[in-house]
Amino acid sequence: MTATAVPASSRSGAPAKGPRRGEGQWALGHREPLNPNERFKKDDDGLNVRQRIESIYAKGGFASIDPTDLRGRMRWWGLYTQRAPGIDGGRTAVLEPHELEDEYFMLRVRVDGGQLDLAQLRAIANVSTRYGRDTADITDRQNIQLHWIRIEDMPAIWKEIEGVGLDTTEACGDTPRVILGSPVAGVAEAEVLDATEAIREIHGKFIGDPELSNLPRKFKTTISWLPDTPYEANDIAFLGVIHPEHGPGFDLWVGGGLSTNPMLAKRLGVWVPMHEIAEVWHGVIKIFRDYGYRRLRNRARLKFLMADWGPEKFREILETEYLDRKLIDGPAPELPERPVDHVGIHKQWDGKYYVGVAPVAGRVSGSILAKVADIVEAHGSGRVRLTPYQKLLVLDLEQDQVNSLVAALREIGLEATPSAWRRGTMACTGIEFCKLAIVETKARAASLVEELEKRLAEFDADISIHLNGCPNACARTQVADIGLKGMIVPGPDGTQVEGFQVHLGGGLGMAAGQTAGFGRKVRGLKTTAEELPEYVERLARRYLATRTEGE
Ligand code: SF4
Repeated sequence: MTATAVPASSRSGAPAKGPRRGEGQWALGHREPLNPNERFKKDDDGLNVRQRIESIYAKGGFASIDPTDLRGRMRWWGLYTQRAPGIDGGRTAVLEPHELEDEYFMLRVRVDGGQLDLAQLRAIANVSTRYGRDTADITDRQNIQLHWIRIEDMPAIWKEIEGVGLDTTEACGDTPRVILGSPVAGVAEAEVLDATEAIREIHGKFIGDPELSNLPRKFKTTISWLPDTPYEANDIAFLGVIHPEHGPGFDLWVGGGLSTNPMLAKRLGVWVPMHEIAEVWHGVIKIFRDYGYRRLRNRARLKFLMADWGPEKFREILETEYLDRKLIDGPAPELPERPVDHVGIHKQWDGKYYVGVAPVAGRVSGSILAKVADIVEAHGSGRVRLTPYQKLLVLDLEQDQVNSLVAALREIGLEATPSAWRRGTMACTGIEFCKLAIVETKARAASLVEELEKRLAEFDADISIHLNGCPNACARTQVADIGLKGMIVPGPDGTQVEGFQVHLGGGLGMAAGQTAGFGRKVRGLKTTAEELPEYVERLARRYLATRTEGE
């Protein structure tokens, strides 16, 4: 449904009087754009910017780009201007967007389900080394993010990555973003149904669909038999469950999201067979499009609608207005106590093996990815996977190839038996490239891991440390054991320095029936970035001294 095609009257008993400003819900007839983002989306579909990039901007260069396209619609194709070097975090909030930005772009390549073959891996590596100054990060949404991209190079970049079946369509923007999937879909011993088919169906039918390219905000999806993606933190999640009468299918969760106002997704209590996932997903995203709040950007995510409606009403609207049928009641799935990251050596259901390795906080490079492709090929495999914990997996290894592959990956800095620190540390993009950032994250994560490996090499527990450059929580501040939110804090001599507010004891994936918890924002507890290693060391030593048997 386009901006002009949405019905002006309510589809669910709209108020009899004429449209009010309200929350800007289209389905209630509130069509007048109520903020600048809604205005530019109404003026022109973000998807249309592709044609202008290829025909005008790539030829005319950065200066030829229309400002609204530059800071708005470019995102619909995975492009953001990156932060200009040398601007400290204290100035993030006071400068205008154009004063913060560079003439280069961050480019997000979507990797739905995190699945890559070697041609795709090599294409990304080639784009990185040729056009992106050898940058490449594995994001916590299974994307690959490149930096230093020039607008002039975009036609060639799209030719290369689309030539191998990848794309950047709706990788950012108010759109259906990359679909998370289990990194071990199709090979895990514990998996009953491989959800890859549903991910492909949605990608094929709906990504780039102008009916869904003007949502109130981003829309995040995960579809996985195993609970090895952060399902509660997504707008929609399908999670494997066995129904006592109907057999294997998926449990539906809606309305999760972190950022500055974190909420966990709610179960609708329905069981969805695999062949109906795309249809149900389509119904939920259309509810978001039609009923989502468009007045305030900071109340536009689906979680706010869910908070007001509750899961019962959401299910009723889904069934009566969008699917025209009842959904089947379903049981809750079994959930793990800790997130599963697949690092290490594991057996597949077919007798082969997969190996998960940990770059530090997802940072790799085009050169490293090219070497990974060569190593994987030399060991008889053709498939890699990215994980939502910024890890990389190699699938389909014969047993006699495993040790050699592990050693070869270690040579290029990818460790299959990492320390607890390297394994559990994630970081968002941070001040190096992100215009919203207040502090450095990736390099800080690397130095933190190195320091903790020296100070506490013997640490033997699972621990998650998530570094975030600002309150937006792209690296999921609130669900880590130690969640770190970047901010400016007073240093020892009273000057303002980079630091973090600390959230302790979060964690997704609690036992079935329970609600996962958010990290406690410890009142007033902050650390400077400089003192972060000491701070984490103190916490870890206290934990080791006081933990109970089996904890
Ligand atoms: Fe940028 Fe903030 Fe997100 Fe980090 S958390 S990537 S600094 S917006």
